[in-house]
Amino acid sequence: GPLVGNLIGEGHVNYVLMYNMLTGIRIAVSRCQAKIRRTLSEEDFTAAHKYSFDIVGNELTPSAKYDFKFKDYAPWVFRELREDHFHLDPADYLLSLTAKYILSELGSPGKSGSFFYFSRDYRFIIKTIHHTEHKFLRRILPRYHAHVKANPHTLLSRFYGLHRVKLPHGRKIHFVIMNNLFPPHKDIHETYDLKGSTVGREYPEERAAVNPRAVLKDLNWINRGKTLELGPEKRALLTEQIRRDSELLKELRVMDYSLLVGIHNMARGNRDNVRRNTLKVFSPEVPMMKRKPTSIKGASSPEAIAMRRVVRESDVQALGSSTIALPEEDLGERQHFLFYQDDGGVRATSDSNYTMDTIYYLGIIDILTPYSNIKKLEHLWKGMQADRHKISPVPPAEYADRFFSFMKAVMRGGEGGMRFKSE
Ligand code: ATP
Ligand code: CA
Ligand code: CA
Repeated sequence: GPLVGNLIGEGHVNYVLMYNMLTGIRIAVSRCQAKIRRTLSEEDFTAAHKYSFDIVGNELTPSAKYDFKFKDYAPWVFRELREDHFHLDPADYLLSLTAKYILSELGSPGKSGSFFYFSRDYRFIIKTIHHTEHKFLRRILPRYHAHVKANPHTLLSRFYGLHRVKLPHGRKIHFVIMNNLFPPHKDIHETYDLKGSTVGREYPEERAAVNPRAVLKDLNWINRGKTLELGPEKRALLTEQIRRDSELLKELRVMDYSLLVGIHNMARGNRDNVRRNTLKVFSPEVPMMKRKPTSIKGASSPEAIAMRRVVRESDVQALGSSTIALPEEDLGERQHFLFYQDDGGVRATSDSNYTMDTIYYLGIIDILTPYSNIKKLEHLWKGMQADRHKISPVPPAEYADRFFSFMKAVMRGGEGGMRFKSE
């Protein structure tokens, strides 16, 4: 399912990678943040800052537990995106990603082989990406930046950072940090990943019946007769934003993206899925915090509170497992965005604008796949087997147009959905 994962502690196969990622982010991002803000130049988009970590340490990088190299791409551009356009508090960002030293791993939910990690507070997702996706993001960064600037309410994935870890034996792992569309404080009762394609786009209903965390697809949406319940204003605004976003993706010749839809039913609340609001701790690691309890002054100082938490977690280690509570309330930055401001999402409304007991969490995800030669081959191959227009890998312009018409149908409901069904 989309939200609950295993916490990564020492001994986990990906512990070293995780440690390196978080240490790299902590040092690189705070290095950039410590400097005085300046306006972006053209070079900032192609910049890459290198760091070399080892157990000894030097004046640029403190000592680390392992030897590795770290690259921070376009740090000034991502800083501006985070602070000016995505409204993140710089200290908060670093703290969420690094002070909470254990991330949970979702494994690889897609076919792509990417791994997903959540920050401890569930606000951020680290996604490992393929080298081609990494190169693509660097190439489109000026366009992406301009789009975000011109479209403060964009539904596109919010990229907060692009980095690379290189392990001593030479393996390179590229990753992005992005927004988790689903808030930590609300159960998601249904999840859909919609592409506007129908061929093969069905999660088996008999499996969905026993798995509330299944990620359902286009045909499930159509066959269940779902629609996004939005009054005329919200619907018009959302349609216009999806149009602009898919227009950009068309120009960038991107493929394979989808609209991720999480549905929270307010009448059901958070009762069904208690585990969604807590994390199961499997082998928590020994805290990186070196400070001793004696150095803490006031018992209620943030350090003291953090320290107690640390102590509690090491106690937990003795027990082997426990749960950690997640924040109960919505977190700041979402208030700035039209489609994320009702409890972190968009509240359903009727045609006459009465609020309904549903909250939608929406976003366009997986936007880094260019229509490469690989896709062209796949297209030829799949095209021989099924109706060419309904399969996923059609050329970018066709993909975007099909995506946008499906999303219009998703919002209009009724006839729109039916039209797709009978196609
Ligand atoms: P593939 O290429 O096979 O589709 P992928 O590895 O590129 O897979 P994505 O499509 O990006 O993966 O995401 C897979 C799933 O992870 C989504 O369907 C969704 O359930 C979850 N997910 C991805 N991005 C987010 C996000 N920003 N917020 C919440 N959930 C997400
Ligand atoms: Ca995908
Ligand atoms: Ca993908």
